[in-house]
Amino acid sequence: MDKLYAPTTIRKIKEEHNFRLSKSLGQNFLTDGNIVAHIVESCGAGEQDLVIEIGPGIGVLTAEAAQAAGKVVAVEIDKNLIPILKETLADYPNVTVVNQDILKTDVTRLIEEHRMIGDRPARGVKIIGNLPYYITTPIIMKLLEERVPCDSITIMLQKEVAERIEASPGSKTYGALSVAVQYYCEVTYVTTVPKEVFHPRPKVDSAVIRLDLRKQRPVDLIDEGLFFEVIKGGFGQRRKTLHNALTGVRGKTKEEIAAVLAAAGIESNRRAETLSIAEFAAIANTIAGE
Ligand code: SAM
Repeated sequence: MDKLYAPTTIRKIKEEHNFRLSKSLGQNFLTDGNIVAHIVESCGAGEQDLVIEIGPGIGVLTAEAAQAAGKVVAVEIDKNLIPILKETLADYPNVTVVNQDILKTDVTRLIEEHRMIGDRPARGVKIIGNLPYYITTPIIMKLLEERVPCDSITIMLQKEVAERIEASPGSKTYGALSVAVQYYCEVTYVTTVPKEVFHPRPKVDSAVIRLDLRKQRPVDLIDEGLFFEVIKGGFGQRRKTLHNALTGVRGKTKEEIAAVLAAAGIESNRRAETLSIAEFAAIANTIAGE
């Protein structure tokens, strides 16, 4: 058989299994072996690691990961892909495919259930995936907010979203998503992936990023929920100055917000897109400490 990622293989599988690609499930399959290898290499999984894969498709990344890692658990929502995966991954006894929606999966429990590799607990847990683009952000935020016990998340996503995630204060793409992800992780932009290496071809280019979960938060917070309220408030009305955008957060009046900003040492005419994580934290801690 041709390589699993070869377009001819995808065509053959579609024919033999009478499988139809689902646009609404974001099924754009990878057809480039170098990119497949690059994603798995970048996640850094070794023989003693457990890999959790989101959306295996016909199993191109899964097969590659199975050769590098001790164990792979792949979560696929499309039941029509399950018999196909059984065939394509038949040579890899260290792979388990779970037919579930990742957004409804208790990933922490899944990891606990599969933590043993032979008679030893896995050394590390790496999450990988070529994400279905219609739910990229919900998947990332679910994993981070639930504090899923993993070391890193190496994913392919729309290039534009990758740029938003890694953006720094002051740049056009810096927003609530940048602050939220960078609060939980160190972000590495691995590579840009052209749309030509997918079947079918999506409209936009993609990128691979790696998120390394921080062992310690980059800022001390009195009230984490309030920190996220401040971020949401600040970016909710992007074009407004902080003074106006934050009015209403925790019921604060305009005058009270002015006092908070002064006490936090932040000029009230600045906009959220110029604030560092530490400055968002200073505002939240000032409100929380009042
Ligand atoms: N990993 C394969 C590859 O790189 O060729 C497929 C990637 S494709 C972009 C996304 C995959 O995620 C599809 O197989 C799709 O069926 C699956 N998927 C979509 N929504 C999902 C969900 N909510 N939970 C789990 N898998 C999902």
